[in-house]
Amino acid sequence: MRISYSQCQAYQTCPQLYKLQYVDRIPVPATADLHFGSAVHEALHFMYDPQHLKLPSVEQVVEAFMAAWRARQAEVPEEQQQSYFEQGVLMLQRHYQSHSRREQGRYTAATEQFFSIPFDGEHRLTGRIDRVDVLPDKGLEVVDYKTSRRMPPQNVMARDAQLAIYRMAADALYPGREATTALLYVFHDYEMRLTQTPEFLAEKQDEIRDVIAGIQAQDFEPRPGSHCDWCSYRPHCQLYRAPVLPENLREVDIAALLREYADLYAREKSAGRRLELVKQEICQYLDRCQTERVEEGGYVAERRKWKRPAAWDEQRLRELLAPMGLWDKVTQVSSAAVRELLKSRQLPRETKRAVESAATYSEVQQLRVRPVASPEDEEIEE
Ligand code: SF4
Repeated sequence: MRISYSQCQAYQTCPQLYKLQYVDRIPVPATADLHFGSAVHEALHFMYDPQHLKLPSVEQVVEAFMAAWRARQAEVPEEQQQSYFEQGVLMLQRHYQSHSRREQGRYTAATEQFFSIPFDGEHRLTGRIDRVDVLPDKGLEVVDYKTSRRMPPQNVMARDAQLAIYRMAADALYPGREATTALLYVFHDYEMRLTQTPEFLAEKQDEIRDVIAGIQAQDFEPRPGSHCDWCSYRPHCQLYRAPVLPENLREVDIAALLREYADLYAREKSAGRRLELVKQEICQYLDRCQTERVEEGGYVAERRKWKRPAAWDEQRLRELLAPMGLWDKVTQVSSAAVRELLKSRQLPRETKRAVESAATYSEVQQLRVRPVASPEDEEIEE
């Protein structure tokens, strides 16, 4: 099969999202951020296009952005159009300035470079690289543009699968050339350069294999989470479809139940925080009186103190208990550790399934009730 980074990312976020987007191909309107990102990408593509004999002027780059933005702005809510426009012009002017400081001898070899490279024999990895630069030492730098305001922490960027795929593409397209990768956050005018180790690439390849196996097995279970809040496919998702209301349920005032639950939950949380503060103040009072008991106003407080282990020195425990044959009594499979292992993507898909089937399951119901978010509250993914 052919698979791109965007498809991998969609599947890893939520298999149901992948299905709605790439299997059912349900059309959804592009977000304002997406239109804005495309216009900035077009302007940068124009700026770095290697077919130009010389670098276009900053005015020409801004003009390219304005033309791309004009073609799209009708799709963006009117009250946001001006701020997106101004932000785009500012970003590009700032980027143009820092471009003039880039090292001598560096030049762009390609922009918007399409690739389709073999993966594991029967599959192909596809995509489009924003820019490929040749460095003064003749090495390559593969650059991907990001136009969102949000910049993830460096350790998250460093583990980005997108750049791993681009690195594999660069190795295949330019054999024998040393390639590094970079994420350019245009809004912040910050470029983070990354070099992928063979181990990291192997780990990302395993993740891609895992995704391919899931898609081929048609495993499209919804994976709900905070990403559902900005998911454009929510109206089509099996988890969010309006429930079919049987006749005899019409007398249940579900709106009142939801309101009451959300209200009680909020009060319980704030009472919990206040309870902890009041407890600390009473304990401080007892400390200052050097007592463990106080009686006032018809109430009595008595304090008991004891120590409970927070962590064990495992090696020391083993030395003590193993000779007595008691070590096995205290070592148990830690459910949390197994869950971490399953989440870590270190296991091949089949082993993962086998490990999952080695557990017995009891049903847990988690209920989260909160006010429905207004569109302004939504986080938008680029
Ligand atoms: S709403 Fe959530 S669970 Fe449904 S498809 Fe979107 S991300 Fe997946």
